[in-house]
Amino acid sequence: MIDANYTLINIAAGIIFSLLIAGSGYKKGSLSKSGLIGALIVGTIIFGFGGWIWFTLLIAFFVSSSMLTKYKFKVKERLAEKFAKGGRRDFWQAIANAGVGSVIATLLFYHMLTGGMEFKFEIFYTSIFTAAFIGAMSTVTADTWATEIGVLSKEWPRMITNWKRVPPGTSGGVSRLGTLCSFAATLFMAFVAILCIELDALFHFGKLYYGILWIFPASIIGGLIGSLADSIMGATVQAIYYCDKCKKETERKIHLCGEKTRQIRGISWFSNDLVNFLSSLVGAIVASLIYILLV
Ligand SMILES: [Zn+2]
Repeated sequence: MIDANYTLINIAAGIIFSLLIAGSGYKKGSLSKSGLIGALIVGTIIFGFGGWIWFTLLIAFFVSSSMLTKYKFKVKERLAEKFAKGGRRDFWQAIANAGVGSVIATLLFYHMLTGGMEFKFEIFYTSIFTAAFIGAMSTVTADTWATEIGVLSKEWPRMITNWKRVPPGTSGGVSRLGTLCSFAATLFMAFVAILCIELDALFHFGKLYYGILWIFPASIIGGLIGSLADSIMGATVQAIYYCDKCKKETERKIHLCGEKTRQIRGISWFSNDLVNFLSSLVGAIVASLIYILLV
């Protein structure tokens, strides 16, 4: 059964570490004020209910993404207006990226609370919850790496739906460089998960834990299919606007120039944040299916 003290300690640790990491992200300009609040909420839930290994995966996403946002920022700012926001993530971006992960952590907690699962360290090593969590985080990491580096690609991306060339930064556009970055991100997340689990196993049991190789296909295939879903939704249902003054496509209702934009495709309430949230859900489901197939 659930150990209440253990959960309380995890929640306290979650608050402290979220404050440290999100606070430093806010100071460095990676998070806006609302983004800081969002990051504190998801960080505390994920550490509190999911434990330190899940939290480390969240941090691996957050730190690598923030670093890549800063990489060649001046060039990207000129290339695509998506990057002109100053690279600060707001509240809804934090929820879009880690919301599904937080829901999975809450479900795990509820499952243990109701006696559905023994409260053991092993559940963090191998369970469908861990698979779903890795799939969700792998997807958002793959998407961010692909966006931040893919936009620097020399060749223009192709629209995923009709394979036509589109300007860098266009929602639904895919490039070879971006896809390669997605793959690297999913591999990176698998390595982080396995490294954490082995460290935890060494600490608690004095030996390595076998039977976690399923994490590679779960993270890679889950993350890549999640990213694919992201691109398809970006090309079809996501609301895209046009600024008549600047003659540019944008994801914003009010353009950076201050002009009100008009919608040219997609569904009006289908924001980029919703696309990210749903694609991480796809990644979580695919990774869970792979877990069921392999374990
Ligand atoms: Zn404009």
